[in-house]
Amino acid sequence: MTNAAIVDLRSDTVTRPSAAMYQAMREAPVGDDVYGEDETVNRLEASAAQLLGKQAGLFLSSATQANLAAMLTHNARGEEVLLGDCYHIFESEAGGTSALGGIIMHPLATDAAGGLSPAQVLAAIKQDDPHLPITRTLALENTVAGQVQDPLQHRRLAEAVREQGIRVHLDGARLMNAAVALALPAAEIVAPFDSVMLCLSKGLGAPVGAVLCGSDAFIARARRLRKMLGGGMRQAGVLAACGLYALENNIERLAQDHATAGRLAAGLAQIDGLPVSHETNMVFIEPRAQDLEPLQQHLRRQRVEIGRQSPRIRLVTHLDVDSDGIERAIAAFHSYFR
Ligand SMILES: *Cc1c(COP(=O)(O)O)cnc(C)c1O
Repeated sequence: MTNAAIVDLRSDTVTRPSAAMYQAMREAPVGDDVYGEDETVNRLEASAAQLLGKQAGLFLSSATQANLAAMLTHNARGEEVLLGDCYHIFESEAGGTSALGGIIMHPLATDAAGGLSPAQVLAAIKQDDPHLPITRTLALENTVAGQVQDPLQHRRLAEAVREQGIRVHLDGARLMNAAVALALPAAEIVAPFDSVMLCLSKGLGAPVGAVLCGSDAFIARARRLRKMLGGGMRQAGVLAACGLYALENNIERLAQDHATAGRLAAGLAQIDGLPVSHETNMVFIEPRAQDLEPLQQHLRRQRVEIGRQSPRIRLVTHLDVDSDGIERAIAAFHSYFR
């Protein structure tokens, strides 16, 4: 056991580049991307735009920076974005949209599956009144804590607000997990959106980066904002090569992560009194409060790492967790609860 690889279930961000990905980095033609001369970045941006059915793409250093650039592009100071109260832009990006953009975030209560309703969103759009900010954007997310969002509902939401002149952004950090789970082309899922962000360093397994896609005009403005945010990178092709490799090789295999998570959920569901839920590559468990710390310590001794959230702990599968690892994790949980 002491030499066994660590089964790290904290997040799908913990993956390391594979040998083939390092090879792609080494062989990537590079240039100065701020001058638009990095062939590999240009190829990644074009591939991502094609995958998502948009005119253009932009490579950014992280999904947080890509969401921020999108919010700054869509909204001026004093304008407002409507979004779910559990969405990453509101909860987990250090308030950057408000702090750096002077943009008001109006959080709306999501349902249990992470969704919003057209009625709820329409009711939140402000009248033209000098007391109120101007509602400019609706930001949605897919997946939401692993939960696949209904593409039809996203279309209804986008159509409802677009009639009011409102733009629609998708935080699709894990969009490809949704596309694989639905067996639908990503471009079809995101067709109703003006802008879409896709993270390359979650389940897709790149070490760094995200792509933001939208119209040529939108991406041209976002490119200036990326520079303003300090995100203009030079020979970024070494990083973009990983993203390209990920788009070419690591999308279909997300189905394996979903299956592995399903196996983990089934194994944990046999433990008496442990609530377990599962969707795509995420499993949630809710141990009793007094078990949280000792469970984590026990698992660590068995070389299984889990997060420190409470009361619900998130377990995430990814390309560095194989089926042997997941069986070892299941056994470690059982040995604790026995
Ligand atoms: C992880 C995540 C992000 C931000 O990604 P970073 O790479 O940490 O910047 C944005 N949105 C969602 C939904 C995420 O899960």
